[in-house]
Amino acid sequence: MISVDKNYDDPPGVLKDIQDKLKDNPLTEYSLDKALHTFWTEKNKKAIKEALSAIYHNKCAYCECNPNVGAYTEIEHYRPKKGGYYWLAFEWSNLLLSCTKCNKLKSYKFPLKDGGNPLKKLPDSSDWKATSEPLLSEQPLLLNPEVTHENKNAYYNNEKIGPITKHLKFNKNGKVKDLSDEGKKTIELLRLNQRPELVIARRKVIKAYLKRLTEYIQDYDNSNNVNKLRDRVYHLINDVKEDAHNPEKEYLQLRRQIFNHPDDFFKKEFEDNHHVHTYELVKQCIHEIKTSRKSIRH
Ligand SMILES: [Zn+2]
Repeated sequence: MISVDKNYDDPPGVLKDIQDKLKDNPLTEYSLDKALHTFWTEKNKKAIKEALSAIYHNKCAYCECNPNVGAYTEIEHYRPKKGGYYWLAFEWSNLLLSCTKCNKLKSYKFPLKDGGNPLKKLPDSSDWKATSEPLLSEQPLLLNPEVTHENKNAYYNNEKIGPITKHLKFNKNGKVKDLSDEGKKTIELLRLNQRPELVIARRKVIKAYLKRLTEYIQDYDNSNNVNKLRDRVYHLINDVKEDAHNPEKEYLQLRRQIFNHPDDFFKKEFEDNHHVHTYELVKQCIHEIKTSRKSIRH
C-alpha cells in the first residue's frame, strides 16, 4: 500500500450533484437502497471509476495490484455504506479504488481499535471527510492510503497516522509484515499474505532485480572488470529508483523499500556468496544516486 493524495474538495461532478440534491432531502438508513439504486447508473459509475483510476493509476488502493485493463476494479466504500455509515455513501473521501478480491474480503467490515466507538451520523457534513477529527476518533484499524498521506497530516491519539511505512514492511519472500495494530488488522482482513498470486507477484519484483545483480557479479567473477560491474550496478539501482517513483508500476511500497533499504532484500545473498565487498559497491551506487542532482521522473 502507498499513501495517495486525493483532493477531497474536488469530487467528480456526479457526486457534487447528488450531494446538492441530498441537501434538500437528506439520506436516511431507509432511503439508502433507493438512493443507491437511482445513483449507481453505468454513467455515474464510469465517471467515479475514471476519477479514482486517474488518482490510483488503476491500481487497488489496498493491495496495489493492477487488475487487467480496468475490467476488475471496484468502487470501494472505506467505511461500509451498509454497516452503519449510510450517510457516507456518496462522500468522495470515503471512496477508494480496489480490486474485486480486496473489495470482497473487506465487505462490510470496519474494525476499530479497543476504545474506538463507531460513530452515528455526524450533523455537520464538513466533518464527513476521512481525515476529520470526529471520524479519526473512531480509531479505525483498516489502513487508508489517503489518510496516511503527509499532505493530510492526520492524527489520532496525538500520533501521526502516516506514513504507511510505519505500519507495513515487506520481506524478501514477498510477504508483508505488520509493524502496528493497524498493519496487523489490514493484513489479516485483506489476507495480504494468504493470496498466493499476490505474494508471488511481489516476490517476482524482488527476484527480477536480484537476478540482474547476480548475473553482473557472475560476469565480474569471470572478467574481473570492476568498472563494468560498477556501471551495470549503477544502472540497475537507477532502474530501481525510477520504478519506485513511477506511479504506473504495481507494488510501489515494496519497490521503495528495495531502494531505501536494500539490505532487507540483497545483503544476505552476498554474504552467502562471499561477495560482501561487491555488495558494498551496490550501497555506494545507492548513496550516489540518492545524493545525485539528476532529475528523476516522479
Ligand atoms: Zn486489492
